[in-house]
Amino acid sequence: MAYKILVVKGDGIGPEVVGEALQVLKVIARLSAIDFEFKEGLIGGHALDQFGVPLPDDVLKNAQDSDAILLGAVGGPKWDNPAAEKRPEQALLGLRKALGLFANIRPVKAVKDLIGASPIKSDIINGVDLVVIRELTGGIYYGKPSERRTGAEGREGIDTCIYSEAEIKRVLKFAFELARERRKKLTSVDKANVLSTSRLWREIAVELSQQYKDVAVENQLVDSMAMHLIRRPRDFDVIVTENMFGDILTDEASVLAGSMGLLPSASLGEDVNSAGCRIGLYEPIHGSAPDIAGRDEANPLAAILSAAMLLEHSLGLRAEAEIITKAVEDVIHDGHRTRDLQGGGGTKMIGCKAMGRLVREKIESAES
Ligand code: NAD
Repeated sequence: MAYKILVVKGDGIGPEVVGEALQVLKVIARLSAIDFEFKEGLIGGHALDQFGVPLPDDVLKNAQDSDAILLGAVGGPKWDNPAAEKRPEQALLGLRKALGLFANIRPVKAVKDLIGASPIKSDIINGVDLVVIRELTGGIYYGKPSERRTGAEGREGIDTCIYSEAEIKRVLKFAFELARERRKKLTSVDKANVLSTSRLWREIAVELSQQYKDVAVENQLVDSMAMHLIRRPRDFDVIVTENMFGDILTDEASVLAGSMGLLPSASLGEDVNSAGCRIGLYEPIHGSAPDIAGRDEANPLAAILSAAMLLEHSLGLRAEAEIITKAVEDVIHDGHRTRDLQGGGGTKMIGCKAMGRLVREKIESAES
């Protein structure tokens, strides 16, 4: 039986980095005799140009029929008009909602060989190993009304933050379960001193903690969390928070690893695929980086590590995922660096294609 993988390369550097990740998966398929059926689809800016919509129906259908989706990023200056009715990022929100991908997992681990690439002092980031779980299908990014209108005092903008008990419970449970598999420490982040949604979030976190007495729970306000994440990141294990707070905190957390070009993510729902695992969407945390697109300067490691997460979480292929992760660590250890990792101690500056090729060579040499 072939695993069905939808590959959506996206805009900007998406095709470059996902192209390398796809080739890595093909090497794993060959060496481990795994059968993948890859389909490709266009979403985002390129889909807008070609089909007039950011998320064509056939791509959404292919996504719903797949075991997992590997994605680049979408968007760029060409499609940046905030007044436009159709925008590239609607494709992402549409995919997440349609597939019920409510939990976004972003691991952040300090890589020893790259400690120098982070602007934060090495004694602070040495040993950092945390995971942020961001709620992905609720909150202010989806609440209605969300619109511009004209009021008595001129132009107004309105967005609505709404969370149901069920939405909060399922993502908190997901985080408690993950904490149980790790160091049994959970930090729930909210703004309970101001927001009603946050007070409900905290109430449910406290209630659920009774069912997970083996997990140490702390509640943090998002503003102080932004500070703690930089001052004492080693103290955190699993961090769980709502959609917008997670969006911001995960970009902040990426600084700990040295570059956004290193960080993968997985978005999971409740639906189970043909492998008996959760259907998931896997993508680097970075955007489409239009400033370096087409120049062979992008770091493909976040996309390659996203492919590793896909094998582990949606196909249950933990050993194969580990082979990819190890190959990435070895290439970094050998001193190879893309431009974004300057200052990380390496001496061999290379481009996107060469980085992808070196990872594949490591995998092949490890297997031979
Ligand atoms: P970005 O992440 O694309 O880029 C920020 C900076 O990091 C840039 O200097 C870029 O060159 C660099 N960078 C990012 N990824 C890199 C990589 N793999 N290797 C080397 N350098 C890398 O964020 P931005 O500039 O704010 O956004 C650009 C576009 O991407 C916007 O249109 C935005 O809407 C979109 N975006 C999409 C997603 C997504 O699809 N999930 C996420 C964030 C931003």
